[in-house]
Amino acid sequence: MDESAIRRALTRIAHEMLEKNKGIHDCVLIGIRTRGVYLAHRLAERILAIEGQPIPVGELDITGYRDDRPDDKQADHSAHNADLPLLVKDNRIILVDDVLYTGRTIRAAMDAVMDYGRPQSIQLAVLVDRGHRELPIRPDYVGKNVPTSRYEEISVALSEIDDNDSVTILHP
Ligand code: 5GP
Ligand code: MG
Repeated sequence: MDESAIRRALTRIAHEMLEKNKGIHDCVLIGIRTRGVYLAHRLAERILAIEGQPIPVGELDITGYRDDRPDDKQADHSAHNADLPLLVKDNRIILVDDVLYTGRTIRAAMDAVMDYGRPQSIQLAVLVDRGHRELPIRPDYVGKNVPTSRYEEISVALSEIDDNDSVTILHP
């Protein structure tokens, strides 16, 4: 995906979010660090442009929650998460990440969200779904489905931290 393809995909997803939720009432975007946070902010900008209403954006770092990394067990309840309890309670949480693979990160993110409070619902938006799920998790919004082998990797560059906007498959 080049810059235009990413831009169009995010615009489409913003429209899909508004359609599915009949607006953005009670909706909160939560980006998963690192690139999910930039994507969540881009989606919020588009939703504001389309709907004329701001949508809150939070962020999560789930490194401490992943079930297959037992050595790294401290959950991150640090200061930037101070507003999450208010954002989560009774709201429609939309998790945002760059790449969906096994689903373990999203499972951990759902755990983390529910540690903060009881959301009304949780939805999932990803820029790329590369397949190979190991859990019963599926995205509600997908920028692009990219079938990969387990040996390949998707490279996601976002201009906020990288030098361009692009999605490419890295072959081993
Ligand atoms: P999962 O937990 O679903 O196995 O992996 C998803 C998480 O790992 C996401 O946060 C994503 O950023 C990262 N990830 C997994 N596979 C890839 C990949 O091929 N490319 C990139 N850029 N990130 C990946
Ligand atoms: Mg990630």
